[in-house]
Parts: sequence; C-alpha cells; structure tokens
Amino acid sequence: MNYHMRRSDREIQDADSKEAIIKNGKYAIMALCKDNEPYIVTLSYGYDAATRSLYFHGAKEGLKLDFLKANPRVCATIIEDQGYIFGECSHAYRTVVIRGEMEFLENDAERVKGIEVMINHFEKDPAKMMAKVHPGTGTWTNTVMMRLTITEITGKERKKS
Ligand SMILES: Cc1cc2nc3c(=O)[nH]c(=O)nc-3n(C[C@H](O)[C@H](O)[C@H](O)COP(=O)(O)OP(=O)(O)OC[C@H]3O[C@@H](n4cnc5c(N)ncnc54)[C@H](O)[C@@H]3O)c2cc1C
Repeated sequence: MNYHMRRSDREIQDADSKEAIIKNGKYAIMALCKDNEPYIVTLSYGYDAATRSLYFHGAKEGLKLDFLKANPRVCATIIEDQGYIFGECSHAYRTVVIRGEMEFLENDAERVKGIEVMINHFEKDPAKMMAKVHPGTGTWTNTVMMRLTITEITGKERKKS
C-alpha cells in the first residue's frame, strides 16, 4: 500500500517493537470483505515468530468462513490498550495493523503445529493443555485451523504525555 502514516512521529519503526505487540496480544480484530460487503470478526491467535504467522481456530462453518473462502485477504489489528488520557480527550495505545492471506490448514502435521503455537501462546502449562487436544478428539475434528502469514505490518504508538 502506498500510504504513509500522517503522524509519522507516532509510527513504530522497529520490527522488534511491532513483534512485541503481537507476542503480548491475545486476539486480533480482523476485517474481511466479500462481494463489496465488509465483515469484522475477533479471533484469538497464537503467534509463530519463526514464520511470522498467526494461527487461528474456529468452528467449521459460519459467516467468517464463508467470507474467508470467498476472499482470503485479511487486514487485522492488535491493540495494546494503555488507557484513556484524562483531560486530553485522547487514548494511549500501541497497535499494529497487519495484512496477509488466510490459509486453511488441511494436513494433520500443520494442524498440530497450529494448535501447539496457540497453546504455547496462551497457556501457563502448555503440556497439560496439549494432552487434551489431539487428532481423534471432538475438539480436534470439529475445528478448522487457519494460518495468516504477515505480508505487511505497520505499528503506531500514542504515549501518555
Ligand atoms: C476476545 C475474543 C476472542 C475470540 N476468539 C475466537 C476464536 O479463537 N475462534 C472463533 O471461532 N471465535 C472466536 N471469537 C468469537 C468470534 O468473534 C465470532 O463470534 C465467532 O467466530 C463466530 O463468527 P461467525 O462469523 O462464524 O459467526 P456466525 O455464527 O456465522 O454468526 C454470524 C452473525 O452473528 C454476528 N456475530 C458473530 N460474531 C459476533 C460477535 N462476536 N459479536 C456480535 N455479533 C457477532 C454477525 O454479525 C452475524 O450477523 C472470539 C471473540 C472474542 C470477543
């Protein structure tokens, strides 16, 4: 995209800081589009730093899947909310906006990898949770796994003054 941030003083330039927002985040709010119709949906994710990918899971049917199957292009935001700034009519935050294409993961090895990434992202005791989710269980067979590889990322920060 050929747009530059108007408030360039608020742009987060370095890759590590942008990645930290993703690592600290728990869910992404993502914009989808089909037939010129927008849809926005919030999904929990796990982040895999090695491949710069976010993994998602969800039910096997529903509106977001119909959108993603028709058009896998996604624009999503992850927000680190640092609170309203009283007396300034403003809000402190760090955010990223990411763009990429969502892929549906079909083979078991990729799906297991996705689950592992999500569980490692969220759980204090990943091994205990991992033991509950594996091929053959209902949680497994009724779930779709998806991966969003980041093709573009921007970051912005509004500090408390
Ligand atoms: C913090 C957070 C984390 C979440 N994590 C996951 C996750 O990991 N996986 C997952 O599948 N879902 C997650 N959800 C729920 C998700 O936002 C959707 O509600 C859900 O995925 C169903 O979406 P769908 O398009 O299949 O809706 P459908 O069941 O097909 O329903 C579509 C209709 O319901 C409305 N709708 C759908 N979701 C919402 C909503 N959240 N609020 C208000 N109206 C809604 C739509 O506007 C539309 O009219 C999370 C939600 C939150 C807030």
